Amino acid sequence: MTSEPFLVDSHCHLDFAEFDEERDDLVARAAANGVGLMVTISTYVSKLPNLVALTERYPNVYASVGTHPLNAADEPDIATSELVRLSAGPRIVAIGEAGLDYFYDRAPRDVQATVFRRQIAAARETGLPLVIHARAADDDMETILREETVEGAFPFILHCFSSGRRLAEVGVELGGYVSFSGILTFNKSQEIRDIAADVPMERLLVETDAPYLAPPPFRGKRNEPAYVRHTAEVLASVKGTDLAGIAQATSDNFFRLFRKVPDPRPVS
Ligand SMILES: [Zn+2]
Ligand SMILES: [Zn+2]
Repeated sequence: MTSEPFLVDSHCHLDFAEFDEERDDLVARAAANGVGLMVTISTYVSKLPNLVALTERYPNVYASVGTHPLNAADEPDIATSELVRLSAGPRIVAIGEAGLDYFYDRAPRDVQATVFRRQIAAARETGLPLVIHARAADDDMETILREETVEGAFPFILHCFSSGRRLAEVGVELGGYVSFSGILTFNKSQEIRDIAADVPMERLLVETDAPYLAPPPFRGKRNEPAYVRHTAEVLASVKGTDLAGIAQATSDNFFRLFRKVPDPRPVS
């Protein structure tokens, strides 16, 4: 008998107010859909206590610590040493989300870059994966990733991949992982599916980025971790495998990369 697929939602935002009314139900629905583990991703270091509380309430929820590029001007001075200190918490398993967002451009670009580079340094020092948010910033993202890798390699994920093909190739070349969200499933996303087809199987992750970006048939509604299964099914067809195959590969990748998270899957 084969066991149910074990999926990981490697990126969601369970602390957001959209979930206030039904967090317990949502975590239960995730488990019922084979989503055995979730990482709730930090967008403000100052709000870390809310994330830690979630990890204490739910045994299958872990958290990251970092500053989203859209919030970089709100907390521009957090030192690498402070990030390293905070990431020592037992359920803090990643740095970020960090990066560059030139689509909204809510923080000055130089501030975004400085805050991003400090988080890269924290990932390098701790060996924890850096969750990278890159939007409409392909050239500068490539430059920073290449410059910082010369300083010393660091583990990273290009999360919610929606950039150009070249950035995916650079990410893989530099040892990074590429994570696909509900965007992969949208009709208009053939280019993203073509890119996913060429990312090596051992570098793929899946995520929801919930509450954003619900995949069909829920598109336009609030997203939640249970729906990562829909993205995994599309990714499976793109890679010529089935849900069990993609669940195995992406979960293996997750536990290799997020090395602080114990693998709860039964040994087969
Ligand atoms: Zn993001
Ligand atoms: Zn996010």
